[in-house]
Amino acid sequence: MIERAVFYARLETCKACEFWRGACLKGHVLQGTLGCPVKKFEGIQGVGYMDDLPVPTPELPAVGSQGCCGANPDGELVPLTWGEVWRHLMASMSQWQKEGFPVVNGAPYVERIHICRSCPKGQYQWFQCKHCRCIVYSKAKLATEDCPYGLWPKLP
Ligand code: SF4
Ligand code: SF4
Repeated sequence: MIERAVFYARLETCKACEFWRGACLKGHVLQGTLGCPVKKFEGIQGVGYMDDLPVPTPELPAVGSQGCCGANPDGELVPLTWGEVWRHLMASMSQWQKEGFPVVNGAPYVERIHICRSCPKGQYQWFQCKHCRCIVYSKAKLATEDCPYGLWPKLP
């Protein structure tokens, strides 16, 4: 995580950027330590820049088989209540911490974002998954996360 002042300085830079649509289309997470993929701001404490990856194009992906929670990817999940969203968030953060905060970078991260942005279940809206209410650019960063419909898996 980064200092508040750094976050807002980054945000001002991003808002003037051609890759900004309320979030970075290249997948940069403003709260993360890595620098801008097109080098408009540096990383924190010399960690370097995020890989400059192509902006995902909206093509339909191949559909996976089985979701982590046992969901039938061909069936309809009932959207979560906000209480359930909060409990899922706490459980996700706990699991992420337990496994040592693993993150997803490079092509696998882009692939996850690509799938969400062209979500075959119609759950993607304004950078958010309507089912789990996660900001997909953040959710896809966590290796311990997976799509509730089984469209992309957890990663080692
Ligand atoms: S490319 Fe860099 S400046 Fe542009 S939106 Fe992404 S992180 Fe911000
Ligand atoms: S996480 Fe949500 S938005 Fe992303 S592919 Fe799965 S259902 Fe669609």
